[in-house]
Amino acid sequence: MARIKQQLLQTEDRRRRATCLGELAQDGIEVFCWCNRCGHNAVVETARLIAELGPDFAVPEVGTRLRCSGCSGKDIATRPAWPGLGQVARHGQG
Ligand SMILES: [Zn+2]
Repeated sequence: MARIKQQLLQTEDRRRRATCLGELAQDGIEVFCWCNRCGHNAVVETARLIAELGPDFAVPEVGTRLRCSGCSGKDIATRPAWPGLGQVARHGQG
C-alpha cells in the first residue's frame, strides 16, 4: 500500500515540476514567448533554445534568457506552445 502511495506522490511531483525543453522537443512542441511590456509575442523553435540552454532547461525559465525583439525588454513569459490549444482531446495537460 505504502508503495502505491509513494508512486502517486511521485506522479504528483512530476506534474508540478516545470516542463523542460527536452520534453517539448520529444513531442515536437515549440515555445511560445510573450513580452509583458509591449505584448509582442513569438513562437521559438525548441531545438534552437536547446542549442543555447540545454535540454534540461525549464520552459518557464527560458524567458529570463530572452530579450524582446520589439521593445528590447527582458520581461518575457514563456510556455509550451501546445498545438490546437482549446480543442485538444487530451485532458490534464499543462
Ligand atoms: Zn516587448
